[in-house]
Amino acid sequence: MDLTETHSYKCKVNVTLRSTKPVVGCEINPFVSVRSEGPLPAPSRDYSVSYKWYREQKFCSIHHDKMATFQCVSCVKLNITRKESYHCSTKCFLNSWQAHMWRHRLKMETSTDDKQTIRKLRSCGSWPEFGSECLSNEKAVVMEEEKEWLLVSCSKNYVPKMDDLGLTLKLECVAVDFSSNTALSDLNVTLTDPVIEFPTAQPRCIVQIQCPRESSSLCSTSLNGIHFSVLSYNILSDLYTNQKYHYCPSWALVWEYRRHNLLREIIEYSADIICLQEVQSDHFENFFKPELTKEGYMVVYKKRTNEVYTGKQFVTDGCATFYRNDLFKEVAKYEIEFNKKTSPVVEALKSELRNEASIRLKKDNIALVVILGTPKYCHTYNAFPSRVCVVNAHICSDPKFPDVKLFQVVTLINELEKILQPEIPLLICGDFNSVPKSDPHTFMVTGRLEYSDSVDPYGVYQHLKLDHQFSLASAYASFGLAVGKQERHLGKFNLKTREPILTFFSPRFSKTLDYIFFTECFLIVNSLELEGVLELLDNKDLAAGLPSPLWSSDHIALMATFRMLPKNHPATARKQADPS
Ligand SMILES: [Zn+2]
Ligand SMILES: [Zn+2]
Repeated sequence: MDLTETHSYKCKVNVTLRSTKPVVGCEINPFVSVRSEGPLPAPSRDYSVSYKWYREQKFCSIHHDKMATFQCVSCVKLNITRKESYHCSTKCFLNSWQAHMWRHRLKMETSTDDKQTIRKLRSCGSWPEFGSECLSNEKAVVMEEEKEWLLVSCSKNYVPKMDDLGLTLKLECVAVDFSSNTALSDLNVTLTDPVIEFPTAQPRCIVQIQCPRESSSLCSTSLNGIHFSVLSYNILSDLYTNQKYHYCPSWALVWEYRRHNLLREIIEYSADIICLQEVQSDHFENFFKPELTKEGYMVVYKKRTNEVYTGKQFVTDGCATFYRNDLFKEVAKYEIEFNKKTSPVVEALKSELRNEASIRLKKDNIALVVILGTPKYCHTYNAFPSRVCVVNAHICSDPKFPDVKLFQVVTLINELEKILQPEIPLLICGDFNSVPKSDPHTFMVTGRLEYSDSVDPYGVYQHLKLDHQFSLASAYASFGLAVGKQERHLGKFNLKTREPILTFFSPRFSKTLDYIFFTECFLIVNSLELEGVLELLDNKDLAAGLPSPLWSSDHIALMATFRMLPKNHPATARKQADPS
């Protein structure tokens, strides 16, 4: 082979792991780059990178063909050769104790370490079980000084198994010219920390307002109306997790971990309608859509209007609304892009303000509206056709733009007035980025806004239609008013606003920004009756801040259960007579 040619193709492989601590079940997706060494040009011929994942092997010091499941802690503390500390079982360890003990004595007599420290170490303990997989392929084992390695995968990505728990993984990469099958780079070796277990979930329960429901199923239909549940959750797009969350260990910030934990949490709630915000467009397509389809959901998705380049592709985040396909069918869908709705307001302003006001109002936020109908088979049991309009919104987050937040919320309501027949009940879920008693919140729940001292540099407020007839209530505030003496839950509500103390939590501030609004009007054909809400979390539950290993977003999930009642139902009539 021509030496100069070999030299000119020499390159270097770089491997970066977003976290060095692998978690069982969470894919490790290394970032791998190949570049030419020194001033020479990048390799021009075809090459590929070969990957080999290894798991650290531990064998019994007595039975060399058996995996170790036990380690003598005294050996570790006495710095006795690691291999001699491993045993296949506690029985094996005890059987060999007479011989084993002499190693401790010998080490203590010859050791230069502090004798008292050594005396303290006499008791022996155990380490966690390593897993009991037998050695399947002897040729795949690589000996390396003290450590032995078992080849576990030849793919770029690796999902740690329970057998990997507590063990170190090793990734070897090399750039290979696949036409001649020769290495183009030195071997790159990356070691991980020992693999850790996936944390155990902390369940959250539904707290009922009234006596226990007649039916135990959350998505049942009966003569007493249709019971269903709605979840609203801003899941924190991976686009926004760079460097801000120093209080969260890096392994719990990696998307491959967060998506796993978020999906587990979302599935656990088993909601009939799921409104997610900040769903990144690529993560929607390659993860949430397929995973929740498997769980029996249909989905509509709308992404924000400005995309960003991640180095691989253009992505953005958006709102995804999932609904159970055995309970609902899509009747109609509408997408609202707030930056396309600015013209009437901007044109009403003085001409010299229009340019700047237009730039200020044109934020890329969106809302997704879907009208769901219950399928025909329900009608035979209920004798009333049921429709519900589900809105999933994510309002502008920048605190410098309160006027833009109000513009977007008012525009949303204006659009719904155009779209909706008055008899269809509404559910408006989402991250409103507005605290209780702020202008957008007041406008939603009171149906009007008369006075505001908010920042409004271009006089936008006076050109908005600041009233609506939807008769909306916030589910959590309604619950907060209704719970009475259930102290444990009331402690997580703000006693003035009756809204949750927080739905967003960082070490700098905690706020309530998310809501589930619903039509609380008993004069329309089908009304919604709030039955319960998912219990809240407070500072004590959330430790240092969100996200955390346990909770994988900076927001908490909100969920409410409802009963949809026909107009002539006795419960509806009773409520009309006594609206308290
Ligand atoms: Zn020992
Ligand atoms: Zn043994």
